[in-house]
Amino acid sequence: MNNFDYLHPATADEAFDKSNTTDGAVYVAGGTNIIDLWKYDLLHPSVMIDLNGISGEKGIKENEDGSVLLSALMTNAETAYHPVIEGRYPLLSRGILAGASPQIRNMATNGGNLLQRTRCYYFYDSNSPCNKRLPGSGCPAREGYNRIHAILGASEQCIAVFPSDMCVALAALDATVHVSGLTGNRSIGFEDFHRLPGDTPEIDNNLKYGEVITGIELPAKGFAKNYAYLKLRDRHSYAFALVSVAIALELDENHITEARIALGGVAHKPWRIKEAEEMLKGKSADAASFADAADIILAGAQGFEHNHFKIELAKRAVIRCGLMALEPESQLPGAQPSL
Ligand SMILES: Cc1cc2nc3c(=O)[nH]c(=O)nc-3n(C[C@H](O)[C@H](O)[C@H](O)COP(=O)(O)OP(=O)(O)OC[C@H]3O[C@@H](n4cnc5c(N)ncnc54)[C@H](O)[C@@H]3O)c2cc1C
Ligand code: SF4
Repeated sequence: MNNFDYLHPATADEAFDKSNTTDGAVYVAGGTNIIDLWKYDLLHPSVMIDLNGISGEKGIKENEDGSVLLSALMTNAETAYHPVIEGRYPLLSRGILAGASPQIRNMATNGGNLLQRTRCYYFYDSNSPCNKRLPGSGCPAREGYNRIHAILGASEQCIAVFPSDMCVALAALDATVHVSGLTGNRSIGFEDFHRLPGDTPEIDNNLKYGEVITGIELPAKGFAKNYAYLKLRDRHSYAFALVSVAIALELDENHITEARIALGGVAHKPWRIKEAEEMLKGKSADAASFADAADIILAGAQGFEHNHFKIELAKRAVIRCGLMALEPESQLPGAQPSL
């Protein structure tokens, strides 16, 4: 661990300015991931720039067109239990509450959740090679213990998965990420926010250096009637997903008129295959239809020595989550808040 300076700017401009003019400057919000990275000796910041003092929209804003803007600095707990989210976007609430523990959700912020780093064991071991931590050093996970690793979208360079639960729900809801930097403001559609590893696994997302996430926008349609989030993991608390699924449906009687399916724990980003969602339109909302969708979603899946089981697990999870979405209040095991 190294010593660092701690800054608490009052405005976003001050934060950008400090981050762009100081080598080794990093932002901190809830600190639940970045302080760990520092303690594991994976990050050696010269300055930690605390974003919590910066002025701007805080909380949740309902726009006239029905869309909702979440502040990046709101905590995960404030977001999940907010009446607008519980009432209009319960899938997001369930996704957030499936993550971490109440204590962590009280500290963790929405912006930080999008930028948390992979939980690959080799990444966290500073004595191990790792292309994500040190480009060109290798990927021991490919031949090593890869139980939690990707079955979709992996590359020769990296087979890590992105561990967020919240982001799986945000992907299914078609959220937009608002960011701000020295060159101005821009918006990034959720499917373009995170990246696949390709030849540059050290880059997790399409944020530019120094940019701050200011907010997350949810479209007006919240799928509050038929939705489910199912997280399968080794234990109920403090465990990241082996596989998770977010499903949102619109139904006409028993027929699907619109479907959204996103998977977590399987790839370097939340995984959505729109062809499967299109296929479901007009189909009966039953296990057979969800099984067909699962086959499309997992068509290109490739397991490694210790994680082949995830392919079948993911298919079954899609079917089960689809059935749960027909009765969201059923709260089957795997859909309860993480303790
Ligand atoms: C034991 C444990 C279990 C966990 N289990 C789960 C789980 O099951 N599911 C899950 O989804 N998550 C889980 N998490 C991860 C947790 O959700 C994240 O650590 C948290 O959401 C990160 O938010 P933060 O505000 O603490 O981020 P920080 O740690 O403060 O920052 C994380 C990163 O984001 C950057 N950053 C933060 N805010 C902004 C911003 N507004 N703009 C630009 N950059 C920013 C920081 O520079 C840093 O790089 C777990 C964490 C722990 C410690
Ligand atoms: S999977 Fe990615 S994060 Fe894990 S060791 Fe390989 S390169 Fe590093």
